[in-house]
Amino acid sequence: MKGIDKIGTDVAFAAQLLEEDGIVAIATETVYGLAANAYSESSVMKVFEAKQRPSFDPLIVHTHSIEQVESFTSEFPAELKKLANAFWPGPLTLILPKNNKIPNIVTSGLKTVAVRIPRKTRTLELLKKLPFPLAAPSANPFGYISPTTAQHVIKQLGDKIDYVLEDGDAEVGLESTIVGYEDGQYIVYRAGGISIEEIEAIVGPVLLKNHSSSNPKAPGMLASHYAPKDVRVVHAEEFDGEDDESIYYLRFDKKLKNIPGHRQVILSKSSDLTVAARNLFASLRQLDEIPSCKTIVIEYVPNKGLGKAINDRLKRASAH
Ligand code: AMP
Ligand code: MG
Repeated sequence: MKGIDKIGTDVAFAAQLLEEDGIVAIATETVYGLAANAYSESSVMKVFEAKQRPSFDPLIVHTHSIEQVESFTSEFPAELKKLANAFWPGPLTLILPKNNKIPNIVTSGLKTVAVRIPRKTRTLELLKKLPFPLAAPSANPFGYISPTTAQHVIKQLGDKIDYVLEDGDAEVGLESTIVGYEDGQYIVYRAGGISIEEIEAIVGPVLLKNHSSSNPKAPGMLASHYAPKDVRVVHAEEFDGEDDESIYYLRFDKKLKNIPGHRQVILSKSSDLTVAARNLFASLRQLDEIPSCKTIVIEYVPNKGLGKAINDRLKRASAH
């Protein structure tokens, strides 16, 4: 199979490939993932190789039930189970102590494992068919924008993977929110598809330890993780550089009046942060693929709800 011929909806075929240590891209509501048998070191190794992902960046393990989570963790604290019950299946990843079913390559040697039950129907069907959970990072080359469609995956990793189990576009469009519980305190390691406000509504105040690239708890937080090309992020009308034909604008809800419309992309005409999140990565790709575009000037979105996670991604995109 070649290119887009690798995109399909055959759950049994995807399961067979994974049972044979192959790697398969899977749909989730956050972004498309590149999955391997989480219990198989050689299979997980292929994911790191395909993505050119550094081995110090641990993967998220995708599972279909709390029961299965309990089979590969040594403890599931009640504090975190509360969040699991509130948001699974959904864009929430929990940090739990692993047992020895999970090889060290999955967690980059950490004693904890990141776990999530995703929401896409076909992916859940696949997970239920398999006798093992799936370790899956985003299905993009390391450092590039996360894929929110099956076509994005094929475009960049088509020759390196066996199959894409398609299940529509990612409707959340941002990676999962990562939460742990340590010393009596909830910690958010990455803002994502479930807002901080939604989490605090269930468990009260949380500590946000979002962005340090040197934070060993979240080795994936490299500053350039989402960097497309020359990117500048500004507040609302603040961009005061001289405009020219090579500058394109990614705006939240309104185009700038004095700039030609073809050089501006809007995230949500209705000023809806959920829609903006859904469109963010595809819009960055769209601009990244325009040859004459040398600079992308992006406007921060309102810093509430999903806006916090969006602004976090924008900050990373602009850091080189
Ligand atoms: P990705 O699958 O590309 O969205 O990246 C998964 C991210 O989850 C990693 O880059 C880490 O930041 C985070 N992660 C995975 N495992 C752990 C863990 N045990 N503790 C804290 N963060 C983790
Ligand atoms: Mg990623």
